[in-house]
Amino acid sequence: MKRLALGLGLLLGYGQPTDSVEAVRFLRREVRRLCRFEGRAPLTPGGRKAEAYLLKRLRQMGYSPQTQRVPLSVYRLTHAEAQALTARGWTRWKLGEDFLPSAGCPPLQGEWPVDTLPREGYAWWVPEPHPLTKVRQLAREHGVALVLYPTPRLTGSIAPEPDSVAVVYRRGELQRPQQVRLRIQGRLEWGTAANVWVKRPGQRADSAWVVGAHYDHLGRVGSLTFWGANDNASGTALLLLLAQRLVQKPPPPYDVYLVAFTAEELGLIGSQAWVASPPYPLARVRGMINLDLVGFGEKGVAVVGGSDQPAFWERLDRLRVQQGWNVPLLVRPNAPNSDHYPFREKGVPAVFFYLQGGPGYYHDGQDRPATLTWTGAYPLLRWIEEVLYLP
Ligand SMILES: [Zn+2]
Repeated sequence: MKRLALGLGLLLGYGQPTDSVEAVRFLRREVRRLCRFEGRAPLTPGGRKAEAYLLKRLRQMGYSPQTQRVPLSVYRLTHAEAQALTARGWTRWKLGEDFLPSAGCPPLQGEWPVDTLPREGYAWWVPEPHPLTKVRQLAREHGVALVLYPTPRLTGSIAPEPDSVAVVYRRGELQRPQQVRLRIQGRLEWGTAANVWVKRPGQRADSAWVVGAHYDHLGRVGSLTFWGANDNASGTALLLLLAQRLVQKPPPPYDVYLVAFTAEELGLIGSQAWVASPPYPLARVRGMINLDLVGFGEKGVAVVGGSDQPAFWERLDRLRVQQGWNVPLLVRPNAPNSDHYPFREKGVPAVFFYLQGGPGYYHDGQDRPATLTWTGAYPLLRWIEEVLYLP
């Protein structure tokens, strides 16, 4: 209905769609496309398709995109199923709803009696959350093959290699069964994934800005796909939109490097590789802006690395105020939670912007394109453009 009304409006000459409507349309389309690539995990077919797609899109815009190959390993969980025996008989646990293997869960197949104490030959039903490192240590000491670990939310991650102990997260409210049956398969793979980047030449090359967003996500665990719409197809789409707009605008005062990072979810591996051998001297980078989780914004904008770089942050924030974007701001100190961090470690001023709001889907099967509201992406984009055009 909305689409029809807009079309009718255009036909009747009610005016062109505004810049922000066009921008959000672009973002929605790009996120839908990026979410077709099976969770975009490095070294998977989906990860390679995502890389190829970014190269194609950037070429279409007139850039000559570059890749930086990054060697890495990924442990992929290719199959996961679980059944539990209760008084009502055997029931199947649903992957992603009742259980989720930890990212490094080693391959495992069999049937175990369940106990709340760590005992050899039993699956250890940990009654309530304890520090996982301690749980793993106890499991090893007691010869436990399988740990069933409670969590209120099943949150996925991705590991570079298998662990020595099998930890399977279970939904906290599940009743303890007498027996569990599990089949988990995984495969360790080695290869290279790629950072994809372009340069928009500025009027001067004596310093540069870097804007980055990671395009990788968690891929799949068995039949469960982690789509990663907000994390971080949203930031990748915003990076593409910025790329397109920068070629249509006059050259910015300084060079701008736009980087789609790989393997953020594996531990900031792509951005670490970038700062280890950057195509431009880091000492001459004016600042780095990282975009990750930008599909919402009803609850405002958060900036990681704002409070501990007051001078840099105030220069940026002044432009937001000038632009009139009055929005709740959460200004946080630096933290190793996304791709700005390796830049900070090298002494480059860097901030990580994310937008707050939404239903809270995170590293699960529900982080899908249709859930995104795109409330804050356009004003955030305009703000970043102001930064890049600051003389
Ligand atoms: Zn992310």
